[in-house]
Amino acid sequence: MAPAFMRAWLLSGAVLCSHARIGQQLQASHPRVELHVHLDGSMDFDTLLDICRHRGVQLPGVGAPRSIQDIERYMETFEGWHRFDAVNNIVGGSVASVQMAAEAFVKFQATSGVSYTEVRYDPVRLSRSILDNSSISEEEAVRAVEAGLAKGSAKHGVAVYQILCAMRGASPQQCFQTADLASKCRSRSMGGVVGLDLAGDETDFPNRAYIDCFKYAKSLGLNTTVHAGEFNKTMGSDVFSAIYEMAADRIGHGYAAAFNASLLQVLKEQNVHVEACPKSALLHGPWALSAIHTFRQYGLNFGLNTDDPALFFSNTSASEDEDIVTQKLNFSAQDVRASYADAYRARFGDVQDVADVALVYYA
Ligand SMILES: [Zn+2]
Repeated sequence: MAPAFMRAWLLSGAVLCSHARIGQQLQASHPRVELHVHLDGSMDFDTLLDICRHRGVQLPGVGAPRSIQDIERYMETFEGWHRFDAVNNIVGGSVASVQMAAEAFVKFQATSGVSYTEVRYDPVRLSRSILDNSSISEEEAVRAVEAGLAKGSAKHGVAVYQILCAMRGASPQQCFQTADLASKCRSRSMGGVVGLDLAGDETDFPNRAYIDCFKYAKSLGLNTTVHAGEFNKTMGSDVFSAIYEMAADRIGHGYAAAFNASLLQVLKEQNVHVEACPKSALLHGPWALSAIHTFRQYGLNFGLNTDDPALFFSNTSASEDEDIVTQKLNFSAQDVRASYADAYRARFGDVQDVADVALVYYA
C-alpha cells in the first residue's frame, strides 16, 4: 500500500472535497510542495465565519456575522495590507481560534493536493485581536498553530510545518524577539517551527535594519528566508543583501534578480532556492511574472507557491498557479515537476518519519 502521504495525495479532494477548485486539483499528476504561503493570506470566508461564530465576535458595521456574505462585506471595507490586519483580528488573540485556523489551513492544503507545506505568519499580530480586546502570548499563538497543524496533519495526511515572520516596519528589537521565539519553539515534530522569515513592506523598510537580527538567527542555528526583490525590478540590492549580509537560506520572490545578470549568477552558483509565486507575481505586473520565466531559463533553483491564495488577496490555488506558468510562461509538465522537486530539496522541515509521497516521488 502506498504510504499515508501518498494515499492522501491520491485521494485528496475526492475525500475532502468542499472547495470550488477541487475539480482542478484532481487533475494534478504530481505531489505539490509549497514553501511560501501566509496563514493569514489563506483564510477562506467559511473558516472566518466559523471562527467568528465560535468566539462570538462582533464585526464593526456588520455585527455578529451570519453568512459568508457578511464576512465578505466586512473584508471589503479594508484595502491592501490592512486586510491582513482584519484577518488577524478575527483569528488572533484566542488559542482556540488560532488552532481552528491552523487546522482549517491544513485541510485546504490537503484539498489542494499539497503534500508538504511550510506556512508562515507574524506571531505578534496573531497574538491579539482588537475586536474583543483579547490577547495571548506570542508563544501561546505559536503553540496553538503547532497544535492545529499537527491535528490537521494527522487528520488529512499531509506534512505541514511553520515559519515565523519578523516584519519590516517593526523594530529591530522585535525581530530579535521573534528570532528568539522561533529558536525556543523550534521543533522537528509535525506542525513545529522550522525557520524565520522577513516579510512586509520592502519598499519603505529595506533589509538594513534587520541584518543583525538575521545574523543572530543564523547564530542560533535557525533556517532563514527573506522576502526580497519582490515589488519592483530595482530591488536587487535587497536580494544581494539577503544572501551576503543576512546569509538567508532561501529568497522569497526575488523577481528583481531576473534583471541583474550578476545576481542571477550568484543565485545559480550558490544554489539559493527562490520561492516564486506566479499569481502573486502577476498581480505585481508582467515584469515580475516574466522573472519566473527567466529563473527557469537560467536554470535557477526555484519553486511555485501561492503566497496569499485567499479570495480577497491573490485569489489563487496551486493548480491555478501551475496554469499560469504553463499557459503564460510555456512551462512544460516536467518544468512544473522540477520546480516542486527543487522546493522539496529546499525544505526546512524534517519528514523522515513518513517516507512521504514527495520524497518518494522526487528522490
Ligand atoms: Zn509572501
